[in-house]
Amino acid sequence: MITVPVRVGIYARISSDREGDGLGVNRQLEDCRQLAELRGWRVAETYVDDDVSAYSGKPRPEYARMLNDLRTGSINGVLVYHLDRLHRQPKELEEFFEVCKDAGVDDLATVTGRIDLADPDGQFQARILGAVAKKESDDKSRRIRRKHEELAVNGKVSGGGSRPYGYEADKLTVRPVEAAVVKDCARRLLAGEPLRSIAADLNARGVASAGGGLWSPQSLRRMLASARVSGQREHKGEIVATAEWPAIITGEETATIRALLSNPARRTNRAARRYLLHGLLSCSHCGERLVARPRSGGQRRYACAKGVGFSGCGKTYVTADEVERFVTEAVLHRLDSPQLQKAVERRHRAVPETERWWQEAEAASAQLDELADAYGERLFSMREWMTAKKPIQERLTAARKQLAKATHTNALSAYVGNGAGLRAEWDSLDLSQQHAIVAAVVETVVVGPARRGYNRFDESRLTPVWER
Ligand SMILES: [Zn+2]
Repeated sequence: MITVPVRVGIYARISSDREGDGLGVNRQLEDCRQLAELRGWRVAETYVDDDVSAYSGKPRPEYARMLNDLRTGSINGVLVYHLDRLHRQPKELEEFFEVCKDAGVDDLATVTGRIDLADPDGQFQARILGAVAKKESDDKSRRIRRKHEELAVNGKVSGGGSRPYGYEADKLTVRPVEAAVVKDCARRLLAGEPLRSIAADLNARGVASAGGGLWSPQSLRRMLASARVSGQREHKGEIVATAEWPAIITGEETATIRALLSNPARRTNRAARRYLLHGLLSCSHCGERLVARPRSGGQRRYACAKGVGFSGCGKTYVTADEVERFVTEAVLHRLDSPQLQKAVERRHRAVPETERWWQEAEAASAQLDELADAYGERLFSMREWMTAKKPIQERLTAARKQLAKATHTNALSAYVGNGAGLRAEWDSLDLSQQHAIVAAVVETVVVGPARRGYNRFDESRLTPVWER
C-alpha cells in the first residue's frame, strides 16, 4: 500500500519540445496541480528548471533545491508530468532513489501513472522509463534527419512550410492559373530577360506570389530555380528523385535555369548590362558614379544623376557609344602593357582559387535553406532562427565578394598580353563578359565637363584610373 503524501512538490522542466509534443511548462504544471487536487494532496512547492537541451548535463538549480527539500522533509512527495522531465541520466535517477529512501519518501507520481519507489518493480519501471527517455533524446535529431532523407529519396512532399507557387496547399495538385505564370516566367528567363524585369512586370500586372504579396527578383529566382516546378525532389540543394507531384516545366528547363542562375557573373550583375560601362564612369565635378540615362529619343547616354534616389550633381553627361568605344580601345591597349601583366600575376597570387569560394558560397546557401526548412517545420523559434542565420549569411557575403574578385581576375587572365587577339573577338563576347574584362582593368574613368560649343567626341574629357 502506498503512503499518500500530504505535501508534494511539483517539478517541471522547460525543454525544447522539438518533437512537437507541445508540452509547455504551464501545461505540465496545470496537469500536475489537477492531479494533486484529485488525490487530495497539498502542493507545498513548485520547482521549474529552464533547460533547453534535455541532456546537456547543465546544472539544474531547482532540481537540486527539490532534492534538498526532500531531505529536510519540507516536502514528502514529488509530482511530475512524466519521468523524462525529472531525470536526464540514469545516475541522477539512482541518486533520487537514495534521497527518497533516506527521507522515507516512497511515492513518486506522474500524470501518466504512479510509481511506488518502495517496490523494486516500481524502481525498475522508473529505470526503464528513464532509459527510454534518454535514448529517445539521443535518437531524436538522428530520426528527424533520417525522416527528411527518406521523404526526399522517395520523392515525397516535405512537411511544413508554405504553399509552393503553382500548386495547391496539398503541394501535389497543380493550380493551372499559376502554372501558366511559371511556364511564362521560365520562357522569358531562358530568353535572356533579367529576373528583375520579370518580377517588376508580374507586380505591375497584379500577379501575386504564393503568399499573396509582391515578387522580388530573389523570390522569383527561388521559384524558377526550384526542382519542384519540374516535378523533381530536391534535398540539400541536390535533385534526388522524381517527385510524387506533377511537373510544370521540363527537367531540362530546370537544369538550364539552374546553370544560368548560378553563374557568378550573373549573381553580382544587378543592373541591366545594356550599358558596358555601368558603374565604371565617375563625374569629375562631384565624384559620383554615372548611371545609364538615355535621351528621350532613345540615344544611349551616361549621366551624373540627381534627384530622388540619386546623389549626383546633374552636371555631367556623356554619349554612350563614343565613350564605350574609347574605353574599350584603352583597355585593349592596356592589356598588352607590362604593368597590367604584373598586376594580374600579383592578383592571381592574392586571390585564392575560385573553386574554394564557390564551394563556400554553395555550402552557406545550402545551410541557410536547411535552416529555413527546419524553421518551417517549427523545430525552433524565430529568434533562434535569426541568430543561427547571421554568421552563415556573413560567410556567404564574404565568399561572394571573393568570388567576384576572383572572377574578374579570371576573366582577364586569358587575355593578358593578348590585346590584339581579344580585339578580334571582342564583338563576339557578350556584354557581361566584356564588362567583366573592362572592370578588371579599369577602376573608373573620370568624365570631365563638356567643352562649350564643341560637338564632336572629346576624348580629353576622359581620364582612366587603372586597377592596380
Ligand atoms: Zn556630378
